[in-house]
Amino acid sequence: MKKYLTALLGLFSISILITNMLGCQSQSLVAVENDAFVLGTFGQIRVYAPSEEEGLKAIAVAFKRITELENAMGPSLVGSDVYNINANAGKTSVQVSDDTLKVIKEGIKYEGLTSGAFNITLGSLIELWGIGKEWQKVPSPADIQDSKEHIEIINLQIDGNKIMIKDPEMLMDLGGIAKGYSVDEAVKVLKANGIKSGFVNLGGDVYAFGQKPDESKWAIGIQKPLVNSNGVVAKVLLENQSIVSSGNYERYFVDKGIRYHHIIDPATGYPSDSGVVSVTIISDSAIDGDALSTAVFILGHEKGMELVEELEGVDAVVITKDNTVYISSGANDMVEILDKTYQPAD
Ligand code: ADP
Ligand code: MG
Repeated sequence: MKKYLTALLGLFSISILITNMLGCQSQSLVAVENDAFVLGTFGQIRVYAPSEEEGLKAIAVAFKRITELENAMGPSLVGSDVYNINANAGKTSVQVSDDTLKVIKEGIKYEGLTSGAFNITLGSLIELWGIGKEWQKVPSPADIQDSKEHIEIINLQIDGNKIMIKDPEMLMDLGGIAKGYSVDEAVKVLKANGIKSGFVNLGGDVYAFGQKPDESKWAIGIQKPLVNSNGVVAKVLLENQSIVSSGNYERYFVDKGIRYHHIIDPATGYPSDSGVVSVTIISDSAIDGDALSTAVFILGHEKGMELVEELEGVDAVVITKDNTVYISSGANDMVEILDKTYQPAD
């Protein structure tokens, strides 16, 4: 019997379906799990370890690493690299950690790859909308227009480990990419601590590695793209891959019957309205999945899939408003649609 790992997972785009737990006893490995609230979300790490003690120890080091990254990249955390960069916009450059530098460089790469759909210098627009913050509201068209003039990534300058935003009105926001990087780094830490298989799940950004003791693959569920639903549309089988979803049904507010969600289209300055309701990216690292899931959401299923098909080692499952499921060519054998109200595209 498949069962949901925890009820909490229903809150996220991705559910992890665990099968055949008994298998681990025969190999004298134990399944060990610990959860924590990190990066503003529910963080879950499960490993198969020789003993509970070893498993818990490795998980603790991984969470410590995640917290270190949160301290460097949290935008509202006074003294974080991102805080300092933003506080010094238009004034001076800021020395940042190697981690922050790496994530910024990846962010810049993805801005180019996605024709600007993914943009780590969208902070002024993200702040203006304030989705999930106390001040969330539909901004005036004039304010949106004004913020849109301060999202040119060319104004982000890198000189060694020194970062400067030249435009005093521009803000950096790594919210669409830092979580993915943190997942990858947590996996590295687990492996360095002797863990051969397990998964890290940060609010729906998942990496599953190694083989489960019963040698079955990891089965990950793609959540139904509906508000407050914990049903599963499809099952994806993985091994040593990341799976990351973006959707419009988790972080949003409603004004006059219209839902405004947290993925902003830099081209319009409004929450993206491409007809897509959920994007799942399967790739070799979660940082790529994080940036690309957000970008494909904005690009829509046609342009988004075109991009995915061009990228080596990247696959996608895109669900549109009309319940059509688009699966990239490399993922056909990995994905099984479980909910028949969703139809595969022809
Ligand atoms: P989640 O955090 O729900 O997993 P995503 O990975 O899709 O969602 O990232 C959404 C976050 O990314 C937003 O909360 C915001 O901080 C940031 N963001 C929103 N729009 C963009 C965009 N076009 N490019 C880059 N980052 C974005
Ligand atoms: Mg993302």
